[in-house]
Amino acid sequence: MEERLQKFLARAGVASRRNAEKLILEGKVRVNGIVVKELGTKINPIKDKVFYEGKRLKPEDKKVYYILNKPKGYISSVKDENGRKTIVDILSDVKERIFPIGRLDYNTEGLILLTNDGDFMNKLLHPKYEIEKTYVAKIDGIINLDDLHKLADGVKLEDGKTAPADVYLDSVDKQTKTSRVEITIHEGRNRQVRRMFKALGYEVKALKRIAFAGLTLNRLKRGEYRPLTERELLKLR
Ligand code: URA
Repeated sequence: MEERLQKFLARAGVASRRNAEKLILEGKVRVNGIVVKELGTKINPIKDKVFYEGKRLKPEDKKVYYILNKPKGYISSVKDENGRKTIVDILSDVKERIFPIGRLDYNTEGLILLTNDGDFMNKLLHPKYEIEKTYVAKIDGIINLDDLHKLADGVKLEDGKTAPADVYLDSVDKQTKTSRVEITIHEGRNRQVRRMFKALGYEVKALKRIAFAGLTLNRLKRGEYRPLTERELLKLR
């Protein structure tokens, strides 16, 4: 039975199908010793030997799913060109080749999922599913009601107005002149929460993601991780 190369790569947990196409076009994938750059290429998943970064890929690898409470000071990618610590370093005990589902900034902490299941990741990241993500932002300044409404209605950013968000004021500290705001967004733009506050003149001093697609951190401490339970997986599928 033949299979398209990008599907095989996604099943093997290398990347989402779309990113797998990029890897093929960039000449990073070899089949039986030969670099293949054709997107339509079909392979035999049993007989053909597919290599990525010098490693033979075997899509029959067990699919694994982890939840991590990311600390600040880690980059949420598999590798960093500047040698910074990555969240995959935290999960170095995991032998499967896993990668994060979406991103958190270097200085953002909180909930992030990791998996070797490219199709699962693709689905969660697809804009049409509008996955909910909840953040707690500690910001400089006492935020006013008008600005809370603006955050909820949508803020104009350089890449367009943000979609409606759920926004709650957790607390204000008059002494330190800071506020804690909980915000739930359904989009996944780069540095979106920080940029939303910045557009209204507030600096985000600390940012934590406390929920993603209905999952929460519960008792998971900073830097800890665990496999998702069957129940959690069912929720996401
Ligand atoms: N929004 C941000 O600004 N940073 C993150 O890490 C996540 C969402």
